[in-house]
Amino acid sequence: MPPLKEDILQGIYEVFGEWSAPFPFACEKQCSACCTQNVTVTAVEGELIHRLIHDGRRESWLAERLLEKGETRRPLMTTNDFAEACLQGEDLQPEQYGSPAPCPFLNKNCCMIYEARPFACRCFASEQRCFPGSSALLPEYYLSACTAVMQIIEHLGQREYWGNMLDVLAALSDLPENSHYAGLLPPSFADQARAHIVKAKPLPGFLLLEGEMDRIAPLLEAIFTRKIGEKTVESILNNR
Ligand code: SF4
Ligand code: SF4
Repeated sequence: MPPLKEDILQGIYEVFGEWSAPFPFACEKQCSACCTQNVTVTAVEGELIHRLIHDGRRESWLAERLLEKGETRRPLMTTNDFAEACLQGEDLQPEQYGSPAPCPFLNKNCCMIYEARPFACRCFASEQRCFPGSSALLPEYYLSACTAVMQIIEHLGQREYWGNMLDVLAALSDLPENSHYAGLLPPSFADQARAHIVKAKPLPGFLLLEGEMDRIAPLLEAIFTRKIGEKTVESILNNR
C-alpha cells in the first residue's frame, strides 16, 4: 500500500475514534456477538491487515483462518454504488443474507487483528448489550455518519478491490509483497476469491439528511482538513 493511503486511512480511523468516543455504548472487551463474517473492506484496509500479520510473522495463522471461512456476506453493490443509486432516485431492496458465521479472527472472544481491524468493525456498536437474535441500538445519525466515512474510505481505494474481508484478504495474498503465502494457500485460492469481489467506486455524494448535518459535519470537517504532510486529506482525495 502506498504510505500516503495508509496515512490517510490511519488518520480517518483516529478522527472517527475521537468523534465516537463520547457515545454511551454498551460495548465491552470480549463482547463479540457482532463479530461475524459479514464484514466488508477495501483493499487499503486489507493491506493494513496483511502488514500487521506479516510484522507478527503470523502468515500461517492467517492462512488457516482464511481456509476455514464459512458462509460470508458478498454484497453485489459497494457503499458508493448504493449511494449513487439512491441519489439517482432508484428504489433499492436490501440484499438478503443468511445467518452469518462468527469471524474466524476471534479467539476467546477477542479480535486477533484488533490494531488493524477495518472500519466496519470500528463503527459497529450498540447502546444496549446485544444478545442472540437482537439488533444493535444506535442513533440514526451515527449510522449515517458511519456510512459517510465508509464512502470516503471506498473513495480512497477506488478502482481497487472491495468486498467481504476474507475474500479481499485472500485476493491480496498472491501479490508480490505477500509471497510468504506461497505454499500456505492453494494456488488458485486468490483467483477464486477475486471472482467474489468488486471494485471500489469514487464518492458520488453523501446520503445525509438535513437534520443530521449539524452533528456529522464536524466529523467530516475533521477528516477533510486533516493534514498529511503539506496537504489536507480533501486535497489529496481530489488529486489537487
Ligand atoms: S455491538 Fe453489541 S455485540 Fe458488539 S460489542 Fe457492542 S454490545 Fe457487544
Ligand atoms: S476483524 Fe476483529 S473486530 Fe472485526 S469482526 Fe473479526 S474479530 Fe470482530
